[in-house]
Amino acid sequence: MTSAQNDEIRDVIIVGSGPSGYTAAIYTARANLKPLVIAGSVTAGGELMNTTDVENFPGFPEAIMGPDLMDNMQKQAERFGAEILFDDVTAMDLTGDIKTLSLADGTTFRTRSVIVSTGSAYRELGLEDEKRLSGHGVSWCATCDGFFFREQNIAVIGGGDSAMEEALFLTKFASKVTVVHRRNELRASKIMADRALAHEKIDFVWDSEVVGINGDDKVQGLVVKNRTSGEESTLDVTGIFVAIGNDPRVDLVKDQLELTSEGTIAVEGRTSKTSLPGVFAAGDVIDSTYRQAITAAASGCAAAQDVEHYLANVNESVATA
Ligand code: NAP
Repeated sequence: MTSAQNDEIRDVIIVGSGPSGYTAAIYTARANLKPLVIAGSVTAGGELMNTTDVENFPGFPEAIMGPDLMDNMQKQAERFGAEILFDDVTAMDLTGDIKTLSLADGTTFRTRSVIVSTGSAYRELGLEDEKRLSGHGVSWCATCDGFFFREQNIAVIGGGDSAMEEALFLTKFASKVTVVHRRNELRASKIMADRALAHEKIDFVWDSEVVGINGDDKVQGLVVKNRTSGEESTLDVTGIFVAIGNDPRVDLVKDQLELTSEGTIAVEGRTSKTSLPGVFAAGDVIDSTYRQAITAAASGCAAAQDVEHYLANVNESVATA
C-alpha cells in the first residue's frame, strides 16, 4: 500500500484477503472503484496459505500451491489498482450511509460500502490441555508445523477433507499418523478418503472422541474415549493436529448484522446483501455448505457486482435529489 488516505471517503473497502476478498478486489478495481483491501496482519491470504497442492481450482491442471494461488490473486488485484493494507480491522461502524472502519493503531477509514470477507477460523476441541499445549505439540496447521515432527507418531483429529489433507501431508514427516474420528465413516470427499484409507502410514481410530492430552510442557500422548464402549485408551503420540472444521469469523460484525442459525452472516438470497444497506459479505463468512476456494471466489465476484449496483443507485439518487 502506498498511502492510507483516511481523510477521503472511499467507495469500497474489502475486509479480508482470501479468494473472496481478492476476487472482489479484482472486480471492483476493474470497475474503477479503487478498492482498499484490509488484508489482515497475520492471516493475509486466508486459509489457502496453510494448504499445499490445490488440485481442484479450475485452470491449474497440474495443481498450484495454495500460497502461490493467493499471491497471484493479490498481484492480479494490485495490477488493476487495488490497494492492499496488511493490517487488522479492530472495529467497524456499519450503520448509516458512510461506514467507519478502525485499525488497532487508531487509524480510521470511511467508505460508502464494505465487503466483509473475513473467512473462518479453525475450530478448537475445547479442552484445557489443548490450549495449554498449543504450540508445544498441538497444532492446527500441518504445512506450518509438520516439519517439526520428523520420525514421530502423530494424531490428526477429524474426519473431513481437512483432516485427510493434514494426515496425507504429515506422512511426509511422521513415522505414523493416526486419524481419530468421532464416527465410523468419514465426511471427506471420496478421493481424499480413499487416498488416506489406502496410505500405509495412516491408521484410523473410529468412533472416538478426544478427552485429554498428556504432557507437562509438550505433548506426550492423546487420551481417547470410544463412544460405543466408553473405554478410554492412550495413543502414544508427540504431535496432535486438530482439523475439525472452521467457524465463520463474525466477531467484528455480529452485533450489527443479522446472522444465520449456523453463525454465518445472513445474506439476501443468492446476493451478498446483508441486513444493512451498503454492507456486503462474501466467502466462507456467508457459506457453511460449499466452502471451496472456487465458491469463495465466485462469491467475491457477486459481492463486487452488488457493490457496483449499490453505488450506482446511491449516486443516481444523489444526482436526482
Ligand atoms: P468439515 O467438512 O466440517 O469436517 C469437520 C470434521 O471434524 C468432521 O468429520 C466432523 O465430524 C469433525 N468434528 C467437528 N467438530 C468436532 C469436534 N468437536 N470433535 C471431534 N470431531 C469434530 O470441515 P473441513 O474438513 O475443514 O472441510 C471444510 C470444507 O472445506 C469442506 O467443504 C471440504 O470439502 C473443504 N476442503 C476441501 C479440501 C480439498 O478439496 N482439498 C481440503 C480441505 C477442506 P462429523 O463428520 O462427525 O461431523
